[in-house]
Amino acid sequence: LEGLVQDYQLTLPAILRRAEQLYGYREIVTRRPDKSFHRHTFADFVSRSKKLAVALKKLGLEDGDRVGTLGWNTYQHLEAYFGVPCSGAVLHTLNPRLHEDDLSFIANHAEDRVMLVDETLVPVFQKFREKTNVEHAVVVTEGGEVPEGMISYEDLLSDADESDFEYRDFDEKQAAAMCYTSGTTGRPKGALYSHRSTVLHSMMAAMGNTFALSEKDCVLPVVPMFHVNAWGLPFASVLVGAKLMMPGPHLDPASLLEDFDQEEVTFTAGVPTVFLAVLQALDAEPDKYDLTKLRSMVIGGSAVPKGVVDAYDRRHGVNVVHAWGMTEMSPIGTVANLPTVVEELPEDEKLEYRAKQGNPVPFVEIRARGDEGFVPWDGESMGELEVRGPWVAKRYYNAPEGDDKFTDDGWFTTGDIVTIDRYGFIKITDRTKDLIKSGGEWISSVELENALMAHPAVSQAAVIAIPHEKWDERPLAAIVLKEGESATEEDLQSHLEKDFAKFWLPDAYEFVESIPMTATGKFQKLKLREQFEGYAPS
Ligand code: ADP
Repeated sequence: LEGLVQDYQLTLPAILRRAEQLYGYREIVTRRPDKSFHRHTFADFVSRSKKLAVALKKLGLEDGDRVGTLGWNTYQHLEAYFGVPCSGAVLHTLNPRLHEDDLSFIANHAEDRVMLVDETLVPVFQKFREKTNVEHAVVVTEGGEVPEGMISYEDLLSDADESDFEYRDFDEKQAAAMCYTSGTTGRPKGALYSHRSTVLHSMMAAMGNTFALSEKDCVLPVVPMFHVNAWGLPFASVLVGAKLMMPGPHLDPASLLEDFDQEEVTFTAGVPTVFLAVLQALDAEPDKYDLTKLRSMVIGGSAVPKGVVDAYDRRHGVNVVHAWGMTEMSPIGTVANLPTVVEELPEDEKLEYRAKQGNPVPFVEIRARGDEGFVPWDGESMGELEVRGPWVAKRYYNAPEGDDKFTDDGWFTTGDIVTIDRYGFIKITDRTKDLIKSGGEWISSVELENALMAHPAVSQAAVIAIPHEKWDERPLAAIVLKEGESATEEDLQSHLEKDFAKFWLPDAYEFVESIPMTATGKFQKLKLREQFEGYAPS
């Protein structure tokens, strides 16, 4: 017996229409490249998004065609977030920090027909445009120079008639947006999101136990809109009518702190690197900024050190919430909001939970597979995390069949090694490719790194596996010391000894100038392993 409810399709036009009907008065603020503020309303945003949709049709774009973007977090990028999918095309955000070879590979693989390029990123685009089939290159500027071979975004909009826009009832399974993984594990691979997955992800993001977003919020996405849809925040904010504060290219601590204070930001999210710098700036001038409105700072993308959670809390009254996700998951998977049973624990135990990556959001299911099957949720057994859910990829875009990332029963293997505890909180102990397998036992490079980085003289530490005749693999620690500080191998070894089993301790320490980083600010262990290929401890 079928239920008797309407077959309402979950689409982005439905979100845009709601914003038009209900939130026209809400504000969107953007930092321009010259640091001044651009302000307009949701009413302006809806009208301009519609014009963009009409303009794309006029350029000859058909349903399903891809429109690439190279942009910061700006009001124009938000227009692309809605204008492109509401026209029937697919929004493809590219990460301008990638190498030009990766960018041309990605633009070609996605077959981008149009590219919307922020004026500050034209030099990046020009480095790879020739190697692509982009037909229409659009420069996003408010009256700045229009380079040869490009058209102006504002001209494109003013030539479009808003009344030609039609709210279409798409099939919710239609593709809406796509992102490529950053290629830390090989060639970038495309995740293709549908209207339905994007809408459901937005509703989940706004839920009380996820980010609790509402019309009363002012959201500042620090995480770039070219990095997994800024974790879905632009879509979710428009859905609930939250004010948006877009930082543009200005992610330095002083600009962000000024934005938080001046625009009364209530919610922000980004990677640890940025918020570490913000913490240092706050520590230097604790009374300069008023952050009393800021109720939540979500940090993810890499692990947040416990000390950072604690420092924000104690010194600045800011609530840090740890979260985990992946490009293949739209991206939100787990959020570390403490359950009531954990709230009752002593402070230090609570902090342990807040430093974990959290438990799964509604409809994301998790399990972890060890060498001998699925591991128990005991907070100790390690296994590779597998997930499934309505916004989790089922395959990569245009990828060869038989990708081993997807299990036979339809789960996605994340490549993250985790423990899961009885409250469903995951703790990432490594990525499969970084795990050190010594004499049949697993050693977590991440735990060693965190412990090493807690040493007062250490600024950065990355631990990799080096081949070993007897044990298969053994840990090597690459260490960057803080300026003016010193520590010897013996100091670091005895620092670790108190917390780790003997076989976990690194066989070797190498003191280096810097550790190679990826375009998204993570340790590039592939590079590091190349650097130490054939390494023999001295
Ligand atoms: P990639 O790093 O391969 O470019 P993503 O940007 O999608 O891909 O990042 C996903 C990966 O980032 C996860 O698989 C995980 O290893 C790592 N990650 C994300 N959030 C966290 C977190 N809170 N703590 C530790 N690692 C995280």
